[in-house]
Amino acid sequence: MDQLKTKILSLEGKGYKAYKSLKGEYRFPRYRLIIDHVQGDPFAAPSRIRVKVTREISGFPENTTSSPSRTTALCDHLTRAFYSRCQKHARGDRGIGKSGVITMDRPVQEVLRRTSMVIDHGYVEARFVMGLPARGRRIAAGELVAMIFQELPLIVHNAMFMESLDTALLYRALETVEDADFLRRSLGERGLVGFVADNALLPRQSGIDPRPLNDETAVLFASPEPFRVSFHLPNHGVITGMGIPKGVTLLVGGGYHGKSTLLNAMELGVYNHVPGDGREFVVTLPSAVKIRAADKRSITGVDISPFINNLPMARDTTSFSTANASGSTSQAANISEALEAGAKLLLLDEDTSATNFMIRDHRMQQLVSKEMEPITPFIDKVRQLYTQRDVSTILVMGGSGDYFSKADHVICMAEYLPRDATGEAKKIAQADATLRLNEGGDRFGDIKPRVPKQETFDPKRRSRDKISAPRTREILFGNTLIDMWDVEQLVDISQTRAIGYAIKAAVQFMDGSRTLKEVAECLADTVNEKGLESLTPYLTGDLAQFRSFEFIFAVNRMRTLKVNQL
Ligand code: ADP
Ligand code: MG
Repeated sequence: MDQLKTKILSLEGKGYKAYKSLKGEYRFPRYRLIIDHVQGDPFAAPSRIRVKVTREISGFPENTTSSPSRTTALCDHLTRAFYSRCQKHARGDRGIGKSGVITMDRPVQEVLRRTSMVIDHGYVEARFVMGLPARGRRIAAGELVAMIFQELPLIVHNAMFMESLDTALLYRALETVEDADFLRRSLGERGLVGFVADNALLPRQSGIDPRPLNDETAVLFASPEPFRVSFHLPNHGVITGMGIPKGVTLLVGGGYHGKSTLLNAMELGVYNHVPGDGREFVVTLPSAVKIRAADKRSITGVDISPFINNLPMARDTTSFSTANASGSTSQAANISEALEAGAKLLLLDEDTSATNFMIRDHRMQQLVSKEMEPITPFIDKVRQLYTQRDVSTILVMGGSGDYFSKADHVICMAEYLPRDATGEAKKIAQADATLRLNEGGDRFGDIKPRVPKQETFDPKRRSRDKISAPRTREILFGNTLIDMWDVEQLVDISQTRAIGYAIKAAVQFMDGSRTLKEVAECLADTVNEKGLESLTPYLTGDLAQFRSFEFIFAVNRMRTLKVNQL
């Protein structure tokens, strides 16, 4: 520690590059400070720093890491603590460029495994960044001394030691995540695909602010009979709520009555949420995939033949490619790709679906004959998906009652509260029989899996690897921009960044015979075994866990993608 201070002071006024000599490891009374990488100039990405505290000194008892759920939740909790302490204690502005910045990856509402904070039997380790301060292009040593010897100790002491954290809040965070994981794991054996707890708070602050709508207008969720189920959670005891069984479930109801809000909550039920989010106990199958239309996306060699056939100019739909998809073909491709990737639950919202993909009514069937219509609408496939492929669907549909005869369950939202409308809907379907004819035959049909070709994947730009996430749903991979604006279950830019690196790491598994799904499985094994850290050439704190689905969906959106079909 003293050596570091002397060293820093000796750099006063020198050229910025002299900071490089600070690289190394330094002992402080209660932790080690490791300077891994020093930025090249004050405007470059800030320097990468770690703080390591021994597990013993940090004081986190064994029961804070006694399950993988708890460990993830603890790291997430410490990341939040560290981040907010940075906000509080780091002055920030200490010169030009990034001078004075001390910050860590900023968590979202979801609790994800991250590289920002790691804990094992030996150590708690924080990985963050600091902008080493400069006046002009010269080293401002006094400023750095203040950052490292005044601000950082305050941050570290308040965020990395058991004694300085609120114990009740800490355990609430761990127990919530453990219970949510338990719930999600229990869905299958109860024949459910999703669960929404009573008293859950689903609406968000705004369309761009995912924090809970915490005001008197918010209506808390209340489960309807006969969907009410209960679970005995490991920590919170008995919990009741709405269990959505396997099969085809319609969410109906008037406009603005909360249908999409419920579906959105279920989409993100593949993740855990922080205490206070309101969706802590809203869970869905880990293999739930949101499906929407995404016109203009590129599609490479996807088998969309279950939905689309006889395109103009006799274009092949068992291996369909386009650089500019229509609404319906993009939605068909999204479903084929989700099935190829192993989805067992599809979530669809009429708001974001292509109308002609969802429905073709009797009048239209008369005017435009099936021979002239390439699309077999989803309504004719949704039951086959379930009976032939064991893939369930939850569908928001306020616009077409033709779906009544296809549904196992109908839930009606009225003033943000659900009620069972299955019986009613079935009666209506009988009394007012539709003249509509089923289309597309009795079989769902097969989807040919694809084998990605290595040559697709070049992370280089001007002969250097260039991988980054400019935005939450955008990856820059070499010269390729991967636009994932329609992949709604991607929630954190650190997931996106990790997927970018994962694509590069996955190339080694593309041997010309492995399918895209098998490549994703190899990748997932590597990440489970060696951690997210293994994806990057150096240690960074800005990677977060992602599902194989989003990895695959990123690859699917590469405009350079080349595939063979099996
Ligand atoms: P729909 O899909 O049925 O048209 P939305 O889910 O889009 O309706 O909800 C309409 C509006 O109501 C949104 O602004 C949403 O934030 C709000 N909202 C949804 N659920 C609730 C609730 N439980 N309490 C209060 N407001 C809600
Ligand atoms: Mg809606």
